[in-house]
Amino acid sequence: MNTITKLVMVSFLFLSLSHADSFKTMKGNLEITPINHASTSLSWNKLNILLDPVGSINRYKNAKSIDLILLTDIHGDHLSPKTINSLVSSKTKIIAPQAVIDKLPKNLQKITTRLDNGKSINSIMGLKVEAIAMYNLPESEHAKHTKGRGNGYVLTFADKRVYFSGDTADVPEMRALKNIDIAFIAMNLPYTMSIYDAANGVNAFKPNIVYPYHYRGKKDGKKVFSDIKEFKNILNKMDKNIQVELRDWYK
Ligand code: ZN
Repeated sequence: MNTITKLVMVSFLFLSLSHADSFKTMKGNLEITPINHASTSLSWNKLNILLDPVGSINRYKNAKSIDLILLTDIHGDHLSPKTINSLVSSKTKIIAPQAVIDKLPKNLQKITTRLDNGKSINSIMGLKVEAIAMYNLPESEHAKHTKGRGNGYVLTFADKRVYFSGDTADVPEMRALKNIDIAFIAMNLPYTMSIYDAANGVNAFKPNIVYPYHYRGKKDGKKVFSDIKEFKNILNKMDKNIQVELRDWYK
């Protein structure tokens, strides 16, 4: 193969649709696929799970066979009743906090289980779901994310625990997490936290692996992306054993 052919193949691979990252659990592989911004797809033990699905359903390869949808918050980058309605089938269940349920149409409310901060469901379809508080600091009733409204989640897949931060600052509830294998951490100003606060927060609970996600922010009215490579540098200066996985969530 000549160099140009190789280069074309490599760039094709790089530009092609997001592929799944695979993790071994005691009940088969857990496949996690970054979709866009906060939207994430997970497959495990014959279940198809989505976190915060928004946008076109063409993004979701198992679109007609979704078992469980987890919703974190009320904003449009996390919640789209239109997208959810085109993804659900007779078997789909949803988990959401009350503020999100209030924004869902009746047909979706019927298939939704309420889960608020600090509460957990010990087994739904064989996985455990814990709701973790997510909010801005300093706390304020005028904050973009007020305490108690939205959920981060810890999902336990057999022996693997996966955390999705949701839109949060470096809050005590995140710092207190234990035994997290894989963490998805939001880092975008002015909505969540800086890469510095994110690195400090992650270093406090030390997951084995961390993925920056939800890292498109806004500055002077323009979309900007947080420097996730610098996040990796800062965090690995604090603890080189935390594996940082950088993916392009904005293809
Ligand atoms: Zn958000």
